[in-house]
Amino acid sequence: MTLKSKLPQLGTTIFSQMSQLAVEQQAINLSQGFPDFAASPVLISALADYSAQGLNQYAPMPGIAALGEQIAALIQRCYGRSVGAQQEVTVTSGATEALFVAISTIVSPGDEVIIFDPAYDSYAPAIQLNGGTAVHIALTAPDYRVDWQQVAAAITARTKLIIVNSPHNPTGMVFSRHDWLALQQLVLVHNLYCISDEVYEHMVFDGAPQLSANNFAELAQRSFIVSSFGKTFHVTGWKLGYCVAPATLTVEFRKIHQYVTFSSFTPAQYAIADMLKLHSGQVQGLAAFYQQKRDSFTTLLANSRFTLLPCQGTYFQLADYSAISDLDDVAFCRWLTIEHKVAAIPLSVFYQTAPQSRIIRFCFAKQHSTLQAAAEALCQL
Ligand code: PMP
Ligand code: GLN
Repeated sequence: MTLKSKLPQLGTTIFSQMSQLAVEQQAINLSQGFPDFAASPVLISALADYSAQGLNQYAPMPGIAALGEQIAALIQRCYGRSVGAQQEVTVTSGATEALFVAISTIVSPGDEVIIFDPAYDSYAPAIQLNGGTAVHIALTAPDYRVDWQQVAAAITARTKLIIVNSPHNPTGMVFSRHDWLALQQLVLVHNLYCISDEVYEHMVFDGAPQLSANNFAELAQRSFIVSSFGKTFHVTGWKLGYCVAPATLTVEFRKIHQYVTFSSFTPAQYAIADMLKLHSGQVQGLAAFYQQKRDSFTTLLANSRFTLLPCQGTYFQLADYSAISDLDDVAFCRWLTIEHKVAAIPLSVFYQTAPQSRIIRFCFAKQHSTLQAAAEALCQL
């Protein structure tokens, strides 16, 4: 029997490939985006405590009430928006599930969806599985700003949705107020939906304002806003995230969520609710925490032959290696991992049509000693 593939053009994600190669090669892994340091001991013991108390059965389908309330309170604190915990917030099994469900909720066969390359790799397959077409708009180095006139020109009668991601993985670009207003205008004028992937929302550097689709009332009325506790609390393996959307959209979102996963890991929901309630300073301190890591990593690389690109947010740093090698970025990342024991992510894999640049992504969500050891190897190239 031969199964007809629904995603014939795809292989295994670059994150799995590079992390596996890093393990095989015993290389320092600055490829896949995850911290190599421990989460708060308070969070870890809360998880153990809730599990020991017996909170190990299915959570309610939309998430436990205490977590929904804390998410609503967080949005109120960060963006001054009041959302209904019960009707507008759904806890999901990571942002990945939220994105997949939101895309499935909106996209029908024949619909076009605008995405910005380099695009996080889960968007296009989810669009394709729902019979839609991804319309790719390429952002380019060094700033990766969106040209909103180009976006307007790409909108057709079939366009249903725009997916945005600010702070942006992999480039570190952060939307300005102007970007959000331009997006809002297009969404309203063309009657579109928006998915706003904000998993790095609390990592905005250099005193820039932390802005979200939550700040723009008319945009928020047409948006599914997605975030991830994996990023915010250094627990990517817990796969806990959420989606905020107006009640009518949330009803449809939950119809799919209930059959994709039904509900998410129960004791972690209680533990995260406690963190948000009792230790919200950790969220507030995240930007300074990662800005310091960005600054020490860039200082450590100052004498290397890499050219570092601007990084306004996220925990990723782009680097141009054209002074070091003529290899393409995929070959360069493999060579770097095998020969110099540092793993990174090539940028071209996030493009439909990759530009002729030689740029790779490093994750700096690492202990100082890890960044130091990596930089030592990178400075020798
Ligand atoms: N969106 C972006 C831009 C990401 O970088 C990631 C990776 N964390 C996700 C979504 C998925 O998040 P999660 O691990 O919570 O599924
Ligand atoms: N978001 C992470 C990154 O960009 C990886 C997530 C994953 O491995 N699927 O590196």
